[in-house]
Amino acid sequence: MSKHVIVIGGGISGLAAAHRLTELSRTGSLELRVTLLEASDRLGGVIATERTDDLLLELGPDSYITDKPAALRLCERLGLTDRLIAPQHATGLKLYTVHRGRLEPLPEGFLLMAPTRVGSVLRSPLFSWAGKLRMGLEPLIPRRSGDGDESLASFVRRRLGREVLERVAQPLIGGIYASDPEHLSLAATMPRFPEMERNQGSVILGSRQAQKRRAQSTSETGARWSLFVSIDGGMEVLVQSIEETLGPGVVRLGEAVGELSWDADADRWRVATGRNGSDPGSDELEADAVICTLPASAAANALKTLDSELANELKAIPFSSTATVNLAYRRSDIAHPLDGYGFVVPHVEGRKIMACTFSSVKYPDRAPEDITLLRCFVGGTLQPHLLDQPDESMEAQVHDDLTALLGISGEPILRRTTRYPDCMPQYNVGHLARVERIDSELKHFPTLVLAGKSYRGVGIADCITSGETAAETIVENFC
Ligand SMILES: Cc1cc2nc3c(=O)[nH]c(=O)nc-3n(C[C@H](O)[C@H](O)[C@H](O)COP(=O)(O)OP(=O)(O)OC[C@H]3O[C@@H](n4cnc5c(N)ncnc54)[C@H](O)[C@@H]3O)c2cc1C
Repeated sequence: MSKHVIVIGGGISGLAAAHRLTELSRTGSLELRVTLLEASDRLGGVIATERTDDLLLELGPDSYITDKPAALRLCERLGLTDRLIAPQHATGLKLYTVHRGRLEPLPEGFLLMAPTRVGSVLRSPLFSWAGKLRMGLEPLIPRRSGDGDESLASFVRRRLGREVLERVAQPLIGGIYASDPEHLSLAATMPRFPEMERNQGSVILGSRQAQKRRAQSTSETGARWSLFVSIDGGMEVLVQSIEETLGPGVVRLGEAVGELSWDADADRWRVATGRNGSDPGSDELEADAVICTLPASAAANALKTLDSELANELKAIPFSSTATVNLAYRRSDIAHPLDGYGFVVPHVEGRKIMACTFSSVKYPDRAPEDITLLRCFVGGTLQPHLLDQPDESMEAQVHDDLTALLGISGEPILRRTTRYPDCMPQYNVGHLARVERIDSELKHFPTLVLAGKSYRGVGIADCITSGETAAETIVENFC
């Protein structure tokens, strides 16, 4: 007899879960009927690509990482390998940062927080001589006693000094999570760094060894892909390709999920839903198993009557809000050579922009030759107030920052702001312990699995892994 699995949420996590369920159903002995419920009128969640005239705008993510293989493998299975694109060489593989109001390249060999090349750090104007000396002493700093969680800020200040925290770790790592490094959990976001401290006694020595190993394995295996890749046609191609493989009747858009309940007599889940804005609870679906990929805050709502302890743990995961502002300029109006991927902005610089991607330089076919497309990030935990203003004034502030940093002389020919309210889970100190408590509470419900960005990684590759693992767990629990 066929089993009905409901997947809640049509972002990349839910899509990966639904796709894996249909794959397993096709290849295994278990017959599955899959329904994916998405509240909005489109799939993809924060992944959204827009074509406007000759421009291709990424409103959300623009790439995924390849050293976690899940996204690459999924693209292979979807027949997208030929459409994967690497950043263009015109970027010189360089990333800029802002220092005293000017763009300066990040020193070569900086591995997120750890310098691996002495020469490039010594030459860099980003750090004072005292800061460079403090960095150089890192291998002599004793290991931390105890193995409890620690914030990113505390770790970097302790091992590499304040300047590395302010100039590199905060904009690079804090930027990925749109978070405050004083609260961000190192164990949940960058576990390899405390591991290097434990094993090698130094993040500089550990990073050098890691880099050597990566270079060696690249030369031995001839790694085919750069660290980040995008898709010809934009990231939404991934969403459309998954949708096409799901077949008719699987996806139900405009279907907001309310509460979940377990009917022990019938051995089935009851999922309250509401169509197209009507009250979630006006309709009900039944299922043998549920994969919930809602952000933890929304999952807490769905599960509050089922298990209040579980709901409280989910509710305790905070979220931050961001916006992307895509601006297009005439290339001739920009003085900077734009010979990089883009730039990050340390919070201490007091700018409105957190980071900027030179989108049409980074990837091909994003804009005609004479037009430059820039994508900026605003808000996050450190500057949430910037989002409390209309699009036009936020765009004007972003334009002012770009004018000062890139030497822009004209007005943008296109502006496009996309808001992502409460979209970025904050993996604060203690996050992993909370996720363990969530997992142990979930043991009471073997046919309910939570997946998505809120738990074990926010990147697209992590979300795909979590969706696929959820699908496999459900199938295992049935067999
Ligand atoms: C601006 C931005 C840029 C990013 N850039 C990158 C990048 O370049 N590379 C990278 O790897 N990662 C990037 N990320 C992170 C990554 O894109 C996300 O973490 C990931 O896509 C989240 O997927 P998800 O499915 O878990 O969640 P979401 O995309 O948030 O999807 C959740 C879905 O659930 C739906 N939903 C909510 N409530 C209900 C309900 N009650 N009933 C039914 N459906 C509901 C929502 O409408 C949504 O579609 C970026 C994130 C943002 C915000």
